[in-house]
Amino acid sequence: MNAFSSKLSRRTFLKQNSLAGLGVALASTSVTALPMIGTKAAQVPAVLGGPSAWAEVKWPVWPQWNPETDEKQLLEVVRSGIWSRADVVTQFEKEWAAALGVKRCLAVVNGTNALVTAIHQLGIGAGDEVLVPPYTFIASVSSILSNGAMPVFVDIDAETFQIDPAKIEARITPRTKAILAVHILGLPVDMDRVMGIAKKHKLLVIEDACQAHLAEYDQKKVGSIGDAGCFSFQNSKNLPIGEGGAIVSNNDHFIDLCFSYTNFGNPYGSAVGTVSTGAVMQGTKLRFSEYQAAIGLAQMKRLYAQTTTRNENAEYLKSLIKDIPGIVPYKLYDKVTRGAFHLFPFRYQKEGFKGLSREAFLNALRAEGVPCSSGYTPLNTQPYLKDTFDSENYKRMYSKEMLDINRYNEQNKCPVNDKVCSEAVWLTQNMLLGTKDDMKAIASAIEKIHHNVDKIKTLGQK
Ligand SMILES: *Cc1c(COP(=O)(O)O)cnc(C)c1O
Repeated sequence: MNAFSSKLSRRTFLKQNSLAGLGVALASTSVTALPMIGTKAAQVPAVLGGPSAWAEVKWPVWPQWNPETDEKQLLEVVRSGIWSRADVVTQFEKEWAAALGVKRCLAVVNGTNALVTAIHQLGIGAGDEVLVPPYTFIASVSSILSNGAMPVFVDIDAETFQIDPAKIEARITPRTKAILAVHILGLPVDMDRVMGIAKKHKLLVIEDACQAHLAEYDQKKVGSIGDAGCFSFQNSKNLPIGEGGAIVSNNDHFIDLCFSYTNFGNPYGSAVGTVSTGAVMQGTKLRFSEYQAAIGLAQMKRLYAQTTTRNENAEYLKSLIKDIPGIVPYKLYDKVTRGAFHLFPFRYQKEGFKGLSREAFLNALRAEGVPCSSGYTPLNTQPYLKDTFDSENYKRMYSKEMLDINRYNEQNKCPVNDKVCSEAVWLTQNMLLGTKDDMKAIASAIEKIHHNVDKIKTLGQK
C-alpha cells in the first residue's frame, strides 16, 4: 500500500463537497452504466499513449480531517497538559466497545501489540500451535512467534480470500491452542464454521480485525465474536490515528489481565494478587495516549458513513466488472451483513486477457489513472520463519524435528494461497469513498485494457 501512497499524494485531493469539477468532466461522456464503458473501450489505452480512462479522477485523500469538527477535543487535550493515559482514552474505549456491541475495549499502542498481548493473556506460548491463514499482513504471524508459539498455516478459500474452514481440522494437532481468524481485506471470515470447529476441539479464537472495522457477520461486529478481537488504527486503516490498536472482548477478567500486562503488570480490576500493591505479573508498557484518543474519537464519527459508502461502491464496482472475462471479484459469505472493505480485491486471470501478465495489466491500469497493487506474497515460505527457527530461544523450546524448515514447509503448504497471491489485484479503501462515476471509471479502464489487449502486448510486456 505504501507503494501508491506517494502516487496518491501527488494528486490533488478531491473534497467530498467539490464534485462539481467531476460533473463538468462527466458532461462530455454519456453517463449510463455499461454503454459508456463500451465507448471508452474503443479508445487507445493510456499505456499506449491514449488518454487515461479517467484523467479527471482525483481519488479521495487518506486520512480525512476537518479542522472545524475534529480539532476541538484534540486542542483541549494538548492545552490540558494531560497527555498520558486518562479520561479521553477511557472515553475512546467506551465508544469503540459500544460501536462493536462488545463489553470491553482496551486501547494499546498498535494492532501488532494488541495481538501479542491478547495471545499472551490467553495463555498461549512456547510449545503451542496457532492456526493462521497465510494470506495476511506479517503482524498476524509475528505476534504468534513473539509469544514463542508456532504458527500453523491453513490454506484459504480463493473466492473469499479468507481462511478456509474446510481445511482447518486437518491441521489440528494435540498442540493446537487457538485459531487466529484474520478478517483480511476487511471481508469477514466464515465465523459460524470457525466457532463451530473451535468449540468441537476446545480451541480459543482470536480475531485479527485490524482491517475490519465495523464489518459484520450475521449482524455481529467482527472482533466481538471470538474470545478476543484485535484492531489497528494505523494511518492506512479504516479508523486512522497514525498509530494505535485495541483489544476487545466480552470477558472482563481477560481485559483486566491485558490492562495489567500493558501497564507494567500493575494491578487492575480483577487482575489483583493476594497483595494489594506492587506488580501482579511480569508486564510491559503499551499505553495509548490522550491525543491519540482525541483523534480516534473524531475519526470514529465519520467511520459509519464511510463504511456504508465503501459497501455501496464495492458492490456497484463488483457488478460492473464481474462479467469481464478474466476478472473474478471477491465473494462474501452468505451470513456477512456488512464488509469493511479495507481493500477491494479481485483475481486477475490472464487467460481472459490473452495471456497478458498481471504485472503488465497492473501497469496498464495505473496508466489509466487507477492506483492498484498485487497485494500479499505468501507468508508461509518467507525467510523470517527459518530465522526464528534458528534462534537459540526456539531451539530451547522445540525439538529439532519441529524446527526442521524443510519438514515445516512441506507440512504448511497452501497451494490455493500461492495461486491467489499470483492473481490478486487490490484497490485501496479510499478509492471506494469516491462517487459512482469513479467506480464506472475503474470499470471502464479495465474494459479498455481488455478490449485493447493485443495492442498492449505489442509493448513487449509479457
Ligand atoms: C495492520 C495490521 C496489523 C498490525 O497493526 P499495526 O497497528 O500496524 O501494528 C495486524 N494484522 C493485520 C491483518 C493488519 O492489517
